[in-house]
Amino acid sequence: MQISDVREDIDHELISREELDSKIHEVAAIVSKDYAGKDPLLVAVLKGAVNTMAAFAQAVSIPAEIDFMSLSSYGAGTQSTGTITVRQDLSTDVKGRHVLIVEDIIDSGLTLAWLVDELKNRGAASVEVFALLEKPARRTAHVDVKYSGFTIPDEFVVGFGLDYDEKYRNLDSIAVLRPEVYEGK
Ligand code: 5GP
Ligand code: MG
Ligand code: MG
Repeated sequence: MQISDVREDIDHELISREELDSKIHEVAAIVSKDYAGKDPLLVAVLKGAVNTMAAFAQAVSIPAEIDFMSLSSYGAGTQSTGTITVRQDLSTDVKGRHVLIVEDIIDSGLTLAWLVDELKNRGAASVEVFALLEKPARRTAHVDVKYSGFTIPDEFVVGFGLDYDEKYRNLDSIAVLRPEVYEGK
């Protein structure tokens, strides 16, 4: 689905599909050098990072395994608290593996900080992060992001896997919704 298919819901496009593809290829080239001969395991958290994982894994020019995890973070409000429950675990034993977490977006960073610790505790040989999008304004947890895509302002974005109320995940670029879409709820 493209912006033109949901034009009435979109305020503006933030990152086009071409920009996403070119950035992902740029990062994938660096990662392919850094991980040559290391048989990396790419790990993504469902569902938001699925598009990023698919595009990134194809852009990498070395053999890499992929795996997914489903996590939920419980708290009083809609924001993550850092208390995480594993809904669906990896099918791979990460012990001794070079793990690269592939993330859609880092907001507070709490979920990611938990995941990095968890994978290290499981005995991974190394754990690094590729985040397609980062919102530095809202970061509360410290996480070292070795590979970074785009830094974006503190706006709620959808598309390329990211949802609002489970919608817009299949939009092929990153966009900012019109306030009416939220206010109508
Ligand atoms: P964190 O633990 O970093 O606060 O939570 C990150 C998660 O919050 C992301 O994986 C994503 O599901 C959600 N999130 C944060 N910012 C946005 C945003 O701008 N748009 C959407 N659709 N989800 C977001
Ligand atoms: Mg995510
Ligand atoms: Mg969501």
